[in-house]
Amino acid sequence: MQHIVLSDIHGNREALTAVLDAGERLGIDSYVCLGDVVGYGPQPNEAIEVVLDRNMLTVKGNHDQAAIDPGQDLMLNSWAREAIRWTRERLSDTSVRFLNDLPPSDTFQDARLVHATPSDPEAWHYILGAPAAAAEFAAFDEPVCFIGHSHVPLVIELTERGPRELEDHDIEFAAGSRYLINVGSVGQPRDGDRRAAFGVVDFERGTFRLARVEYDACRTRNEIIDAGLPPFLGDRLLRGE
Ligand code: ZN
Repeated sequence: MQHIVLSDIHGNREALTAVLDAGERLGIDSYVCLGDVVGYGPQPNEAIEVVLDRNMLTVKGNHDQAAIDPGQDLMLNSWAREAIRWTRERLSDTSVRFLNDLPPSDTFQDARLVHATPSDPEAWHYILGAPAAAAEFAAFDEPVCFIGHSHVPLVIELTERGPRELEDHDIEFAAGSRYLINVGSVGQPRDGDRRAAFGVVDFERGTFRLARVEYDACRTRNEIIDAGLPPFLGDRLLRGE
């Protein structure tokens, strides 16, 4: 059974739809979402509707939290803050209920799911490489932990020699190893590749691969500008950064 693990949709309907279409072609069995369904993008309610419609097991991201908690505004940079205020004014009752009910951490088969870090999921720290990951492996019991938050894909393997970053994002899980995997971002990639990123995991086969799919980023950019959101948030989608 193949499952898509996705993160950081950020109200980008075009990108999310492209990932679902790819999932259709792959015969995906279920979808798991690592948070930041809203924020930055112009379709927060639509993104939540899709997540609900697909029954995605979802954990809370910092933008999901900020969208329902103005006390978090100062934690965000000025573009993010402007966008989250825009989002807050437009959330439907269903969306507010959905965001309110999101857990900070969950499990799915052999994996732990968090948005940022397993050690302190709601502190919103970033794991950008093996050194930052070292202490995190003690914070979960499962063989694999999936994360998002940085919008940059990352695969860390823990062996008896310690954690190391793998260059290959298409892997077979090795017996005795554990993994911390950032699946990148659906709606706002920041690794220089503007295509929507997502992970495909198969626990029976013991495989994970990072996948990319093209979507109409120009359309989302124009919708961001038409919505009165900061144009920078649209332009960055075209560059994937
Ligand atoms: Zn995010």
